[in-house]
Amino acid sequence: MAYTSTKAIVLRRADWRENDRILTLLTRDRGRVDALARGCRRPNNPLMPASELFVLGDYMLFKGKGHELVTSCQVEDSFYPLRNDFDKLSYAAILLRCAELAAQPEEPQPYLLILLSRSLSRLAYSGLDARMVTAAFLLHFASLTGYKPRLEHCAICGERIPEGEPARLSFTAGGLVCRRCQRPDGDGTAVEADAVSWLRGVLKAGIEKTEPDLHRVPLPALKRYVEQALEQRLPPLPEYGARM
Ligand SMILES: [Zn+2]
Repeated sequence: MAYTSTKAIVLRRADWRENDRILTLLTRDRGRVDALARGCRRPNNPLMPASELFVLGDYMLFKGKGHELVTSCQVEDSFYPLRNDFDKLSYAAILLRCAELAAQPEEPQPYLLILLSRSLSRLAYSGLDARMVTAAFLLHFASLTGYKPRLEHCAICGERIPEGEPARLSFTAGGLVCRRCQRPDGDGTAVEADAVSWLRGVLKAGIEKTEPDLHRVPLPALKRYVEQALEQRLPPLPEYGARM
């Protein structure tokens, strides 16, 4: 029997019995943890604020016989604005699902936790376009999980893809594919020239230092790429995001 204290984000919550919830947490120190928040649905229960989606906090967990328990939590941020905006909520659901699929029990995830909390914070509070925040998350997520796409050079022939040239993003190839190597039956999603520059900038310098002057955000291409890496479908994009 042991107590652990770890920073975590709530990825999923399921009502349990009359007043409880089972939380799926992404923890910094122990990867994915399922823990029971006993009594959290009772009014004024101290665990109530800690048992909502997206909540970031320091969770105290107790592992005894049966379910692991949440015994207390110091909430750091609930990213509250996400709850009032259907589009933002839909993008945030994609982020949570990625984290849930990548995190394994007892495998520390310090970088994924930082990436997820920063991205949720940008979705909730910054003026950055939600589609761009999601696209940048997916690009960093792919890199973090071992599927960093080749962006500077063609993933098939190795030639540099010059600035101002469109390409295709292909998971099977492992990154961008230049015009010469594209085949009608090849997989991948078209990425416009300005989106190629944007992807390179985001991977090198981060979203805040990259010019957001984009005709089209390469979000569907990145989503498809990550879905192939995870071998799972992610939640759908809101209609507007899918079109752009
Ligand atoms: Zn090529």
